[in-house]
Amino acid sequence: ATADVGVTGLAVMGANLARNLARHDHTVAVHNRTYARTEKLMSEYGDEGEFVPSESVADFVASLKKPRVAIIMVKAGAGTDAVIEELAAEMEPGDIIVDAGNAHFPDTIRREKALREKDLHFVGTGVSGGEEGALNGPSIMPGGTAESYERLGPILEDISAKVDGVPCCTHVGTDGAGHFVKMVHNGIEYADMQLIAEAYDLLRKGLGASAAEIAEIFSNWNTGDLESYLIEITAEVLAHVDERTGTAFVDVVLDQAEQKGTGRWTVQNGLDLGVPITGIAEATFARSLSGSVPQREAAHGTLPAHTAEWSVQDRESFVEDVRKALYASKVVAYSQGFDQIAAASAEHGWDIDRGAMARIWRGGCIIRARFLDRITEAYERTPGLPLLLADPYFTDAVGNGLESWRRVVAGAAQNGVPTPAFSSSLAYYDAVRAERLPAALVQAQRDYFGAHTYHRVDAEGTFHTLWSQDRSEEKQD
Ligand code: NDP
Repeated sequence: ATADVGVTGLAVMGANLARNLARHDHTVAVHNRTYARTEKLMSEYGDEGEFVPSESVADFVASLKKPRVAIIMVKAGAGTDAVIEELAAEMEPGDIIVDAGNAHFPDTIRREKALREKDLHFVGTGVSGGEEGALNGPSIMPGGTAESYERLGPILEDISAKVDGVPCCTHVGTDGAGHFVKMVHNGIEYADMQLIAEAYDLLRKGLGASAAEIAEIFSNWNTGDLESYLIEITAEVLAHVDERTGTAFVDVVLDQAEQKGTGRWTVQNGLDLGVPITGIAEATFARSLSGSVPQREAAHGTLPAHTAEWSVQDRESFVEDVRKALYASKVVAYSQGFDQIAAASAEHGWDIDRGAMARIWRGGCIIRARFLDRITEAYERTPGLPLLLADPYFTDAVGNGLESWRRVVAGAAQNGVPTPAFSSSLAYYDAVRAERLPAALVQAQRDYFGAHTYHRVDAEGTFHTLWSQDRSEEKQD
C-alpha cells in the first residue's frame, strides 16, 4: 500500500479534488464505478502528481496506507450508501471513510452511527467552492470524531483555500455537524444572492439605470464593506453583453431561478428548530415564486399596482441608501444563519465554534467575503453571543445604515418593487429589538379558542381565562 489518501467518484468534483491532493504531494488512490473515468483522469492529468488507479474497490482499498482514508465524491443519495457499503466491506477498524458530497446531515448522522458500530470512522464533510474550489482550494467543513480529524485534518487543511495563511478548514463537530454547517452556508448563500438581486432591481427601477451602469456600481461597492465574491461576480454578470442579441446578458436570461435543495433543507431545519431564518426563507421562496408560472401569468397585467413613476431626485444618495440597506439586510441574514448553527449545535451537542465557521468561509467558498472577519471577531469578543446583531461592531454598522434601510424599503413598497428579503430583514430587526411584541395578543387568542393558557408579566405561573363562562382567571398548577 502506497497511497496516503484515496478518492472514489471521479466526476468533475472528485477528479478535481484528487488532482488538488496530488498537486500537494499526496499519493492519491483513485477509483470510479465506471473505470473509463479513472482512465480519463490518468491520461489527462496523470502527470500532475502521484496517482494509484484501481479498477476494483478491493484494489482501491488495498492501495491505501493504514489507517486508510477514502474520500467519496459521488452523486449524493443512494449512490453514497452503495459506495459506503462497498468500502466498509473491505476496510478495517480505525479506517476513515469521508463523504465529501452534498449529503443531507440527518443521512450523515445515520451513516456515522452505522459505521461506528463497525469501528470505522465516518466523516461527513462539507466542501464548498464548486469545481474551481475543488481544484484550487475549497472551504472544507469536516464533521466526525476528533480522533479521525487528527489523521484527516492535516490532509484537508493542506488542500483547502488559505486566507492570510490560515486554512479554510477546521473540525466542525461530531457526526453530521460538517454537513449541517455546509447546508447553512448554502442557505446564507441563497439569502446573499437574493439581497444582491433586490439591490440590482431597486437600482434598475429606481434610477432607470442600465445593467452596465449597475455593474459599475457593484464594482465600486466591491471595494468597501460589501467586498465579496458574490458582489464581484454580480458586477461581471451585469457587464456581460449577450453575443446573440448585443443586449445586456441579464436581460436575455429567463427570470426563473432554480434550486437543488440545500436552501429548502435549511428552511425546513429552521422550522424544526424554531429559529426565524427569515432572510433565507424569503430567498428560497423568492426562487419558488419566480418559478410559479401559472400564478405569475394570472397576476401579470391583472393585479393593479397603483404606483406612480419612481422618480429618484438624488441619484448618488439613492445608490448609497441601497448600499447601506443591502449591508444591513445581509448582516441580518448572517445573524439568523449563525443563530441556526447555535441552535443545532445545542440540540445535537456539536459545540460548534461560530467564529471558526466564519473564518473558514473567508476563502474557497461562494460566500467568501471581507465581512466574515468581523463575524469571527464578534464571536472572539463574546463566544456565547446570543445575537450577532447585538455585537457592538454590527450594532453600529447596521445603526449607521438604518435611515437608509427604512427609506429604501418604504420606497420599494410605495413604488411596487418587490423586496422580500430587504423588507423581511428590516421587519426582523424591528421585531427582535421591540420591547413588546403583539405575540401577547396571539397568545391570548390561543387561550380563547384552545385553552392554551398564558403567562402574565406581573405574576409567576400559568393562567387560563374562562372565556365562555364569566371570564374570570384561573391559575393552573
Ligand atoms: P455527480 O453528482 O454528477 O455524480 C457522478 C459521480 O457519482 C460519478 O463518479 C458516478 O460514477 C458516481 N456515482 C453515482 N451513482 C453511483 C453509485 N450508485 N455507485 C458508485 N458511484 C456512483 O458528480 P459531481 O462531481 O458533480 O459531484 C459529486 C458530489 O459533489 C455530489 O455529491 C455533489 O452534490 C457534490 N457537489 C458539490 C459541489 C460543491 O461545490 N461542493 C458542486 C458540485 C457537486 P459513474 O462514473 O460510474 O457514473
